[in-house]
Amino acid sequence: MNHYDKGLMWFRRDLRTQDNAALYHALKQCRRTWCVFVFDTDILDELPRADRRVEFIRESLVELDERLREMGRAHGVRGTGLIVLHARATEAIPALAQQLGVQAVFANHDDEPAALARDARVFGDLAHAGILLHSHKDHVIFERREVLTQAGQAYGVFTPYKNAWLKAITPFQLQAYPVATYTRSLAPVPTSHTAPVPRLADIGFQPSNLSQLPMPTGETGAQQLFEDFVERIDRYDEARNFPAVKGPSYLSAHLRFGTISVRYLASVAYQMHLQGMAGASTWLSELIWRDFYHQILANFPHVVDKAFRSEYDAIKFERDKHAKEQFAAWCEGRTGYPLVDAAMAQINQTGYMHNRLRMVVASFLVKDLGIHWQWGERYFAEHLIDFDLAANNGGWQWASSSGCDAQPWFRIFNPVTQSEKFDPQGKFIRRYLPQLAGLPDAVIHAPWKANEIELAAAGVELGNQYPLPIVDHALARERTLLRYAVVKKPGELK
Ligand code: FAD
Repeated sequence: MNHYDKGLMWFRRDLRTQDNAALYHALKQCRRTWCVFVFDTDILDELPRADRRVEFIRESLVELDERLREMGRAHGVRGTGLIVLHARATEAIPALAQQLGVQAVFANHDDEPAALARDARVFGDLAHAGILLHSHKDHVIFERREVLTQAGQAYGVFTPYKNAWLKAITPFQLQAYPVATYTRSLAPVPTSHTAPVPRLADIGFQPSNLSQLPMPTGETGAQQLFEDFVERIDRYDEARNFPAVKGPSYLSAHLRFGTISVRYLASVAYQMHLQGMAGASTWLSELIWRDFYHQILANFPHVVDKAFRSEYDAIKFERDKHAKEQFAAWCEGRTGYPLVDAAMAQINQTGYMHNRLRMVVASFLVKDLGIHWQWGERYFAEHLIDFDLAANNGGWQWASSSGCDAQPWFRIFNPVTQSEKFDPQGKFIRRYLPQLAGLPDAVIHAPWKANEIELAAAGVELGNQYPLPIVDHALARERTLLRYAVVKKPGELK
């Protein structure tokens, strides 16, 4: 039984046909359904002209379009596919909905503040035209206020949140939406909108180096990555901390853009967790961290501009010319600390950074250079393909100790010991800093400790091919303890 004659599915961060909540509801409830994606100029206008994310989206849309065509063909409907617009979403969606004469628009929730503001505007304009906007949970397993403390409050600490999450989970939350059951209601794209998915140049962008990276796009790419990962998920627990090892899933960009369903991933991991597979349990925990930070953003939206814990807003960070120079050195991987610099080379060259390294470089920026976490947060937001406001903000506030369940303010990563521990043979450093490749393992973590013979044999001239450290870690540590003293609680040891 259809509720509507015509409907419109609006894709945003859910670029897939399988197990997509809004697509399922649109197809089920409408006799004819069109699908649209908008390259939103309100977002694109702010971006550099070569942006891996735009390319990732574009490539994924080509596959989404093809899949929608195939789904239509399978039911004898020719000419189905994706309508792709390049416009302001707030104007284009109400205009298209009216042009098509739909009674309802379907989308999945997006809880980022800018997206909520956009959706509120679209909702108002659609309502004005007598059209409904239906929005569904799809991006996470539990959202908003679905997992609360016994006192009905949102959780601010991970472990009790995780325990409550695991207690609340049932097959219902992990069940896939059987989109294929209703694909017969896909409608042919009207002739005014049959143009193919625009090329990058059509929307004012140039190619990045995405096509040269091992970063498959679309639903097929996500599935490939997951199949590869499932084969080694049992080793995740020990492998995930070593950046030179293929330990994690590399699925973050796919989770960000919804080219794979988090329900599907969580259901596979949960089954393995129930069978006692430690690697799968740890990986499931990472998916729960993702839900955790999403509910933090939804319930404590002040984190976007301020510290989760307000007393941390009193900390005075460096902002002068010297700080700006040091920030530039951090961005460009010129700090003189090889693990930090190799990590920054990784993000700059690939748009990805290993989780351990995100923690190391974030700590280095905030606690060695004394620079505000928001500067680093912004840099990551501009460079990560998987940039996600909730996870990025959570990660930065964790590293700077200002966040929920963050690491204590007096815990300061030593960039050299982190390097010795997590890249013991310097394999990751050598991959990204080939100029240091000839140094012995014992000194590659701190080249300034190498003797002249070692440096000469490796062809390294410090201050020339590779910088001397821009900060002394031991002194920086003392400065940070003083800087953070404003948040010290009575009785705290440090
Ligand atoms: P896996 O280890 O395979 O984990 C599986 C998935 O779980 C990830 O794809 C991700 O969706 C989720 N996940 C894992 N760790 C976390 C975490 N700590 N918080 C939230 N979700 C997690 N992750 C992002 O997706 N986008 C970001 O913008 C982002 N910025 C970060 C910034 C900092 C300073 C830090 C410390 C972490 C950040 N993370 C971010 C979390 C984490 O580093 C990445 O999710 C992870 O490295 C992605 O690689 P993967 O897919 O191989 O992860």
